[in-house]
Amino acid sequence: MYDYIIVGAGSAGCVLANRLSEDPSIKVLLLEAGGPDSRREIHIPVAFSKLFQTPCDWSYYTDAEQQLENRKLYWPRGKVLGGSSSINAMIYIRGNCKDYDRWAELGNPGWSFADLLPYFKRSENQERGPSEYHGVGGPLNVCDPRCANPLSEAFVQAAIEAGFTGNPDFNAESQEGFGLYQVTQRNGQRHSAADAFLHPAAGRPNLKVMTTAHASGVLFERNRAVGISFHYGENSRQERASREVILCAGAIGSPQLLMLSGVGPGSHLKQFSIPVVCDLPGVGKNLQDHPSVGLIYQCLLPVSLLNATRLSSTLRYLCFKNGPLTSNVGEAGGFIKVSSSSPTPEIQFHFGPGYFKSHGLETINDHAFSFGPTLVRPYSVGSITLRSSNPLDSPRIQANYFSDSRDLDAVVEGIKVARAIGHSPALARYRGKELHPGDDVQGDVAFRDYARKITETLYHPVGTCKMGNDAEAVVDSQLRVHGMEGLRVVDASIMPIVPGGNTNAPTIMVAEKAADLIQGKESGHQVTRSSVHRKTPDLVTR
Ligand SMILES: Cc1cc2nc3c(=O)[nH]c(=O)nc-3n(C[C@H](O)[C@H](O)[C@H](O)COP(=O)(O)OP(=O)(O)OC[C@H]3O[C@@H](n4cnc5c(N)ncnc54)[C@H](O)[C@@H]3O)c2cc1C
Repeated sequence: MYDYIIVGAGSAGCVLANRLSEDPSIKVLLLEAGGPDSRREIHIPVAFSKLFQTPCDWSYYTDAEQQLENRKLYWPRGKVLGGSSSINAMIYIRGNCKDYDRWAELGNPGWSFADLLPYFKRSENQERGPSEYHGVGGPLNVCDPRCANPLSEAFVQAAIEAGFTGNPDFNAESQEGFGLYQVTQRNGQRHSAADAFLHPAAGRPNLKVMTTAHASGVLFERNRAVGISFHYGENSRQERASREVILCAGAIGSPQLLMLSGVGPGSHLKQFSIPVVCDLPGVGKNLQDHPSVGLIYQCLLPVSLLNATRLSSTLRYLCFKNGPLTSNVGEAGGFIKVSSSSPTPEIQFHFGPGYFKSHGLETINDHAFSFGPTLVRPYSVGSITLRSSNPLDSPRIQANYFSDSRDLDAVVEGIKVARAIGHSPALARYRGKELHPGDDVQGDVAFRDYARKITETLYHPVGTCKMGNDAEAVVDSQLRVHGMEGLRVVDASIMPIVPGGNTNAPTIMVAEKAADLIQGKESGHQVTRSSVHRKTPDLVTR
């Protein structure tokens, strides 16, 4: 019998496992479907895309996306200790402070930026030192890139020449402008949530971590979660929790597991003959993500990340943990508003000093650089639904990118800005042929077609178990599942609105706050809801 069972050792699960097991009298079990984070490519920053479509990756695909020429988009997600933080691009961005104020306004007291800044700081060890916005001494190392590529520096200069401001810190007063990204690395290596939070706690006798343990359902007694059933090797096993079951399986895994367990839209569950424990219509809804479009230029000088494959680069990395192998690929970027009336930037740029197409799965043997707009304030909303009642089947993902036409409009404006930056003087000596989309692609209609043909995920799905108190909310502002007891969701799925930026730091912040809520260190703010219909069988085991 454990006090807490946590499902999923990703960004959020690693934080919770650490924080909850700080008290030696509390017994914690952490279940992870993937294996240990031992692969070399996890730790060498530039190699992250080599982890795609390996056993460390769930390798999801969306359904055919109607606005994207019916393409089925590949969605990598980490299936390994550290979860997606073990395969991500390591960019440290918190999002815009106004995003969190909006979360609070939507009926989530305690979730404004002022409430959350202490949690961002608590998790952080900022190598630049402490400030009003940054913390030191926290578990997660945040630093400047060790070996920024000259192309990345030229990109920032080019953006300034195109009329934008420079920004040395996107996580301080203002998000707007261009600069080099800070990264979650330590000593030239990835610093995943597992590195930062889980491995330092692994020796605690009150924390048990089980890998290759695929949770298949929450066990209930009436409306109380009392344990988890899971596949472990060839066997099916169960473990019980006296206090809480906490789902940290991510924006795809958590809604899937809730629905498999009978918590979700009743009519949908009945299609799969799943007994309804709690009819919660919002489970799997409100899927929000950041779609991204890339422009790629041939590079005339031999300075790109193609050099990372050289023997000299390997030796430099092995001896000094420096050089191009420390690159996180997305080295530089920026945030802009394309509409003057927008309260926060709608477009983020990511610049990579190399050829980055189709998630890095498509390569060329030539120097190049890639960058483009990512939509960080999407209006389009998608969903996660079940494909079957088999826990080992992937759920259905419908991202619905560009189903709201305002999203494609904003991306087209972003492509125009990208072109302007690409043609600024600072990039002139590097810039060769525009490989994608190519000089013949001009004007709004052509840019729209290009975006439909080329858009991919920037890997930030959130929102599918959203926090709130409206009819589609899944958890309350203390992250407790509405209508249930002893059951919380703590991961990117609880975000009511996707933050305007990369989502790892925000997810870690969510888990830091959840740890306090669970331990009663922060009372939270009670919000009641009356619209939950629940049915409570004695014990549902699946
Ligand atoms: C390729 C890629 C690049 C990215 N780049 C960046 C970046 O540069 N900066 C940034 O801020 N963000 C980035 N992100 C996004 C960021 O990493 C995620 O938003 C964040 O890690 C989400 O954390 P999570 O805890 O919600 O989910 P995850 O970290 O995905 O963790 C979920 C965990 O649950 C496990 N799990 C799922 N289902 C089950 C089950 N049934 N039983 C047991 N275990 C289960 C999974 O295996 C996984 O370990 C990137 C993501 C990806 C995939």
